[in-house]
Amino acid sequence: MRKKIVAGNWKMNKTLAEGLQLVDDILKLSNENDEVIKIIAPPFIHLASVAERVKSVKGFEVAAQDCHQMAKGAFTGEVSAEMVASTGTRYVIIGHSERRTYFGENSKLLAQKVASALANNLIPIFCLGESMEDRNANVHLETVKQQLKDGLFSLLPADFTKVIVAYEPVWAIGTGVTATTHQAQGMHNFIRSEINKKYGKVISENTTILYGGSCNAENAKELFSCLDVDGGLVGGASLKASDFVAIANSF
Ligand code: PEP
Repeated sequence: MRKKIVAGNWKMNKTLAEGLQLVDDILKLSNENDEVIKIIAPPFIHLASVAERVKSVKGFEVAAQDCHQMAKGAFTGEVSAEMVASTGTRYVIIGHSERRTYFGENSKLLAQKVASALANNLIPIFCLGESMEDRNANVHLETVKQQLKDGLFSLLPADFTKVIVAYEPVWAIGTGVTATTHQAQGMHNFIRSEINKKYGKVISENTTILYGGSCNAENAKELFSCLDVDGGLVGGASLKASDFVAIANSF
């Protein structure tokens, strides 16, 4: 079902002690309600502790920032979806542009990660988005359509309904440049219409589509007021408790 979600992607920030302090600060400032799901995505090694901290708090969930595509084996340094799930984590970010760019993750690999996440009852938050070159060349819709098709459209409808989509234009991530409401709504509407073509109206209307890219306490309200924007995937601003909570209160 379509949900309102604000997810904080901490990336490679915070020691364990700092991370738990941030969680405590967020919990102190938040109302306990599940109208808006607040998802915290800390580094792998914090997952179990953060999941333990929020497990009895209504409306809070935990996400990993990635998972490996294989179930187990000789993959030094990697973490499987089953291991992530075993910490009490229920969500996993897959296909973040930093993974695509710095770790060479391609569509085929990302589709495998999505499958592995779903097989282990993790909810994938699947990221996609165009570069500035794509937008300037007016091929941004084509790029996002291909990412959707390659990463998600092999899923059976019952599996697709579990996925959350995050539109994150690469040019807006960590840059301080936010998509305008016109750009965000335009792309979210396009994504929903592509889902409609593939899976039908009911599924497309029920798909949660988040916006990510320099979303902050000042611009969240305007972005979330867009018809097809169901919340945000937030990087930098999720590292400050008051900002993260203000964003979660922006619906
Ligand atoms: C992100 O990393 O997913 C992100 C959206 O980062 P920022 O909010 O810092 O642009």
